[in-house]
Amino acid sequence: MKRTSYRLGIMGGTFNPIHHGHLVAAEIIRDEFKLQEVLFVPSGKPPHKENDEIVSPEHRWMMTVLATASNEYFSASAIEIERGGESYTKDTLLELKKIYGEKTKMHFITGGDAIAEISTWHRTEDLPKLAKFIAASRPGYILDWEKIDAHFRKATSLIEIPALAISSTEIRRRIREGKTIKYLVPEVVEKYIYKNRLYQSR
Ligand code: NAP
Repeated sequence: MKRTSYRLGIMGGTFNPIHHGHLVAAEIIRDEFKLQEVLFVPSGKPPHKENDEIVSPEHRWMMTVLATASNEYFSASAIEIERGGESYTKDTLLELKKIYGEKTKMHFITGGDAIAEISTWHRTEDLPKLAKFIAASRPGYILDWEKIDAHFRKATSLIEIPALAISSTEIRRRIREGKTIKYLVPEVVEKYIYKNRLYQSR
């Protein structure tokens, strides 16, 4: 009997906070790419990011766990948070390959804007050999393929997700301005944000 290899999606992001756009993107991509699991991996310290608006890794981890709990195909991993230091995707993929097995087909999913910068990321040698890359883009976003090196281009797919009209930046702004975020994030995440007074000031 021929056994097919495990198809794993790895949803990488800062998730500051996680929102329904991320969840819809992961679910649509799971379905389209026939993934057996989508593992959400919040970054520890996102590379090249100095941003006082980023709440602690522990808060982003808790919100990710709460948001993904109700989907049987979703799971969450704290490997980048536990590793500490800058979160390099290459280290994450190598670690996950050890955990899930050599034959696992890995699909790294993240935002189109992040993928557009992939050729400028550090430690990217061999990345396309380790995983396929899926760029989830906001409506109307045009990926500048010219910016992406040829060896990455072959390993990259672009998928437009209308729900990604929702953005973490907009959610943080709305909270600061005292506006509602109902239906932009799962209700458990909304409650967690208010209970812990996240994003209320800069
Ligand atoms: P970001 O700058 O926070 O986000 C860039 C854009 O992509 C934003 O519009 C963001 O929207 C969107 N986005 C982020 N994650 C997404 C997801 N999973 N699905 C859909 N849209 C998403 O990007 P980042 O979080 O720092 O980086 C994204 C991923 O790439 C992370 O896993 C990071 O570790 C990795 N990365 C690796 C390297 C490296 O290895 N050298 C360098 C850079 C990034 P929202 O704000 O609404 O999420």
